[in-house]
Amino acid sequence: TIAPRQFVNRPALWRADLSLPVDAGHKYDRGHAVVFSGSASRTGAARLAAGAALRAGAGLVTLFSPAGAILVNAAQVTAVMVERCDGERDLARHLDDSRLKAFVLGPGFGVGGTARAYATQILKAGRFLILDADGISSFADRPEELFDEALGQAGEGGPNLVLTPHAGEFKRLFPDLAAKGSLSKLDRTREAAVRSGAVVVLKGRDTVIAAPDGRAAINANGTPWLASAGTGDVLTGMICAQLSQGTPTFEAACAGVWMHGRSAELFGPGLIAEDLAGQLPAMFAELL
Ligand code: AMP
Ligand code: MG
Repeated sequence: TIAPRQFVNRPALWRADLSLPVDAGHKYDRGHAVVFSGSASRTGAARLAAGAALRAGAGLVTLFSPAGAILVNAAQVTAVMVERCDGERDLARHLDDSRLKAFVLGPGFGVGGTARAYATQILKAGRFLILDADGISSFADRPEELFDEALGQAGEGGPNLVLTPHAGEFKRLFPDLAAKGSLSKLDRTREAAVRSGAVVVLKGRDTVIAAPDGRAAINANGTPWLASAGTGDVLTGMICAQLSQGTPTFEAACAGVWMHGRSAELFGPGLIAEDLAGQLPAMFAELL
């Protein structure tokens, strides 16, 4: 077999594919990103993702919120919009708007059938989905339901699905791969990407990004201050910003992970999740 292509994740890998605002561009050219909010007591994670998506370059960002969480969300956001989404019929109506390009589902969302139904619906509609946290855990006993949908939906720019598990979440979707001590983290992730039809981002100190076509990159930036509540939620927003603007899936995931790590480095010690998006302007100034 051919040796897998693997790289250290660095800008040279994806800079040419990065989506950036263009002269005379309109906000709709930059894509409309959506983040699903959890219920009233679990809304912060979605706002972290939404704020990061906007700062990372999405033209518009909307929080899809259950009715009971609309007020708490609306009271805490400004440029980010809030829309009610309470079940599959609401989501179907929203999906009629073809400008909604990329969705984040999972942070603070709650584990269960609603997450599974939404994920399936989004993939069937041919939109990009970043599935994280509770979204991943919702498919713990039945990963095939998700994988079958993803394998059937890959578009021109690559897969429509990005999975962003930490080690514990990875184990819920791929228990056999997680238990296989002979596999390196790189090979585990590559195998998971082939099996799921998704770009898989296996997080941690040395985050691995892998695509079903065999490409893989190991991320080397970031700081241990990232090991803190909410930083993973911010990462989903950064990836979503690129997907909503049309960056190919693997490159979008690599760029998001790199921007996230670099933002942590630029902030330095004392970092919390809320600080990350604020470093993006300095990150872009360096990168561009
Ligand atoms: P989560 O596990 O969802 O909260 O996400 C944590 C985020 O922080 C991921 O992007 C990880 O890759 C990153 N992270 C966690 N621990 C470390 C570490 N020790 N060094 C660098 N990055 C880390
Ligand atoms: Mg997380």
